Amino acid sequence: EKFKEGLVKTRDNFSNKLNDLVSRYRSVDEDFFEELEEILIQADVGFDTVMELVEELKMEVKRRNIKDPEEVQSVISEKLIEIYESGEDHLSALHIQEDGLTVILFVGVNGVGKTTTIGKLAHKFKSEGKKVIMAAGDTFRAGAIEQLEVWGDRVGVDVIKQTEGSDPAAVMYDAVQAAKARKADILLCDTAGRLQNKVNLMKELEKIKRVIEREIPGAPHEVLLVLDATTGQNALIQAKTFKEATDVSGIVLSKLDGTAKGGIVLAIRNEMKIPVKFVGLGEKMDDLQPFDPEKYVYGLFS
Ligand code: GDP
Repeated sequence: EKFKEGLVKTRDNFSNKLNDLVSRYRSVDEDFFEELEEILIQADVGFDTVMELVEELKMEVKRRNIKDPEEVQSVISEKLIEIYESGEDHLSALHIQEDGLTVILFVGVNGVGKTTTIGKLAHKFKSEGKKVIMAAGDTFRAGAIEQLEVWGDRVGVDVIKQTEGSDPAAVMYDAVQAAKARKADILLCDTAGRLQNKVNLMKELEKIKRVIEREIPGAPHEVLLVLDATTGQNALIQAKTFKEATDVSGIVLSKLDGTAKGGIVLAIRNEMKIPVKFVGLGEKMDDLQPFDPEKYVYGLFS
């Protein structure tokens, strides 16, 4: 239900145009496909992904000898899911340790919804009975530490912090020690999102990871990149930059409720080959959902 509500804008945009297209055409011809391409591109599905999808559609339409535009609709959803699920590692499940501490590092530029996502996930894990700790590793942006503390109070989770401007790697060291001492299950680590200087970003993330790994072999178990769905193709550019700077294991796409161009999920998965693990569908504590391609695609049409 949450998924459906969150996708209202995209669904309205996408299915209205699609219904209009289907009602105007009597047969599935070249013009039909060209208009379909345009609709998909406008929904931010991404040029390469659209081309791939439409190629697949054309073949399928030919193979099944489909003449009626109405019938193409269901093939579109099938193909969208297929494209999302093609290749390895498209699953949204997090790598949670059975025993001991799981460390999750969050990266992404300012304003994308990183802190909110950490707060939402803290709430989710806590309600599953896990002991959670958050690390205020964004020591750069003014107010970032306080903002994480607000979430800490809201969901009842401790925040490990130092003062603004301190070394984020030192904060992580403290946080790991605290997590061990308190026998925490999950450590959620915020980081600063400075994209202006990729070399610095890379160095900072490497140092943080080194500290974490030294204390807990195999950690961090996830590096989640938070992207803002409302920024469209810009999100894709951010994804590329972060992928070059560090090993991103999954994406959290926030603010999917705030855009009519939710096709960006497909573009990200298909072009980056990184699974979308969660989507943000609102500002509240429980507005975070594991990403499910079938629910998503059927949510676009229903
Ligand atoms: P950060 O700078 O990356 O830590 O971003 P914040 O967590 O402070 O989020 C920036 C703004 O986006 C805040 O006003 C959040 O309430 C809002 N926000 C975050 N996630 C979502 C979401 O999934 N949906 C909506 N509608 N707003 C969100």
